[in-house]
Amino acid sequence: MSQSLAINSDYKRSLLAGLELFQGVDAEDVQDLLQTCDRRDLAEGELLLSPGAKNEHVFIVLSGSVNVHVGAPETPILATMEVGACVGEMSIIEDRDPSAFVVGAEPTHLLMIHQTVLWDMVNASHAFAKNLLVVLSERVRSHNQVIADSYGELRKFERHATTDALTGLSNRHTMEESFLREIQRCETDEEPICLVMIDIDNFKTFNDQFGHIAGDRALSAVASVLKHQFRPRDLLVRYGGDEFAVLLPGVDEELALTIADRVRKAVSGETGDGSDSLIQIPIRISMGVAELETSGDLSALIRAADAALYRAKNAGRNVVSN
Ligand code: GH3
Ligand code: MG
Repeated sequence: MSQSLAINSDYKRSLLAGLELFQGVDAEDVQDLLQTCDRRDLAEGELLLSPGAKNEHVFIVLSGSVNVHVGAPETPILATMEVGACVGEMSIIEDRDPSAFVVGAEPTHLLMIHQTVLWDMVNASHAFAKNLLVVLSERVRSHNQVIADSYGELRKFERHATTDALTGLSNRHTMEESFLREIQRCETDEEPICLVMIDIDNFKTFNDQFGHIAGDRALSAVASVLKHQFRPRDLLVRYGGDEFAVLLPGVDEELALTIADRVRKAVSGETGDGSDSLIQIPIRISMGVAELETSGDLSALIRAADAALYRAKNAGRNVVSN
């Protein structure tokens, strides 16, 4: 709802004093133009501006406040504009639709300045033009801040994304820290430590034959068998794609080969009890086993286990190799 702004000159002067666009503006310079402006009453929750709806006014909050939302009115409040602040100026200056949703935070009165009047005010008062530049520069600064904050959030999210969504296992990013810690502990205790790399055999063909969804289910079934087969102390991660890595602290190569072969049989359904069996689906795995030789060198251990896995694949798959 809009209505004419019938105000006397004293009130006009005191009214202008608190408005960011009118700081230092001589009321005489703009009073005729102000006379042409209307007032808009906005209810709580009422939409004032939205992307896709052309805007022809700058709105100045005279009482109450409005909330700014990006993307949709339901998203968290990006900013609250209190008495004296203005909204809508960017869409006028760029002659584009508003970039955000602006909604009444409470019953609010707004001064409406039509775009033609805005430009007339710029011509009539240098102070007004300067204020407009200051407002725009603050907008750019706060947009930059939002971008910087969201980058920060994204980085934080990436750092905290330690779990693989499909299998529930830790992902490769967590490996370095936890594996190195365990390697150090074993070296201190003079215990052996082994790494086993595990890769599903011909998984591309499985996907082609049964579809990607069945492939995903097979992957999480394999992960579940692996979780049950290894001890809680062993560090199991999804290394990527159809590949897993497991660190076996306190285990030498000979024992690791035995453990790995038991796991291989459990996955392929060759074990007796059938509790962990994937016998319903034709899944086989190959495994490469390596024992830590060079003190603290995780990369060398990974390379050695990878080379052993390569030998297992070359030996015909569904095989454990060192
Ligand atoms: P190889 O016996 O030599 O390992 O043959 P392979 O077909 O398994 O070949 P490779 O390990 O190089 O390829 C892995 C395939 O696993 C590629 C991709 O189709 C599939 N894959 C990787 N990640 C996923 C996933 O998250 N879901 C599904 N369904 N498939 C995946
Ligand atoms: Mg594979």
